[in-house]
Amino acid sequence: MKDFERGIKSATGFFALRDDDISYFTSPSMLETLYGSAWKQGFKPSLAIIPKRKIHGKSFSIAENRELVQFIKTKIDESHVDVIQHGYAHSTIADKAEFQIRDFRRVDRMLAKGRAILEKTFDCQISVFSAPHDAVSRATLRSLQRRGLCLCRRFTLGRLLAVLPPERVKIPYLVKAIARSPNPFRLVPDTRIEVLDTPIIQWTAILSPRSSDKPSAPRSLRWKEAKRLFAARKNRNQPFVLLHHHWEYFGDNGKEGLLETEGLRLLNAFLSYVSKTGVAKTSLSEVCEGLACGS
Ligand SMILES: [Zn+2]
Repeated sequence: MKDFERGIKSATGFFALRDDDISYFTSPSMLETLYGSAWKQGFKPSLAIIPKRKIHGKSFSIAENRELVQFIKTKIDESHVDVIQHGYAHSTIADKAEFQIRDFRRVDRMLAKGRAILEKTFDCQISVFSAPHDAVSRATLRSLQRRGLCLCRRFTLGRLLAVLPPERVKIPYLVKAIARSPNPFRLVPDTRIEVLDTPIIQWTAILSPRSSDKPSAPRSLRWKEAKRLFAARKNRNQPFVLLHHHWEYFGDNGKEGLLETEGLRLLNAFLSYVSKTGVAKTSLSEVCEGLACGS
């Protein structure tokens, strides 16, 4: 039985972890350092991979980093990770994030090409998409719907209304969401937004290991807040999705080694806390699969 289904049946709640910006430039040692302890505890980080990273006009396909590909494939076989699609090139088009543009055909082409690269490279099925900078247009939602992919993103009610494609919207869900969020600037309250045939999974908290990013909110306080949010979600048997970026823990794509030692200690302390609660440790692909099956 999948951990997601077990979580639903036993009402223990679910925990997923999304790691953005894995690309040609990521080294296996970064992932090994970051998740060595998490894997021992049974966590399944969802690796959000950029299929064809574009930098200064040059493209770097994930498939070309053979060492990383082999490492990730082994981890997939061991059920230690799953792969989700993170954009296409992680670049801008006419000063907009690539999946924020309104050109449906272009968006749909990028989505399909990126998915095909990941499915061929890792010999797995891609069912979840996350957009660079979390920026999506109505064209992107239309394309995701067409291709049956789940979206992992956070929405306020206003933003959701702005990008929903009018066709195939589940009106009763939308009415309920509007009634529950009278303020358009408030986040849609459910972790799962089931307003389209393919559900949207909202991430719950984003955590940076860096101590200097937000002097007003020291690192330890941010983790404390994450614990509070986790407990609240668990009580309601809702998935908790933690979002972070592996590269923030390292310097120069891992060449300088681990820089944020204290950040990693806090991440592992948080994961140990989560583990002790008996929560089901799941991946975003499993969450999506469970939702698609109507769990
Ligand atoms: Zn990104």
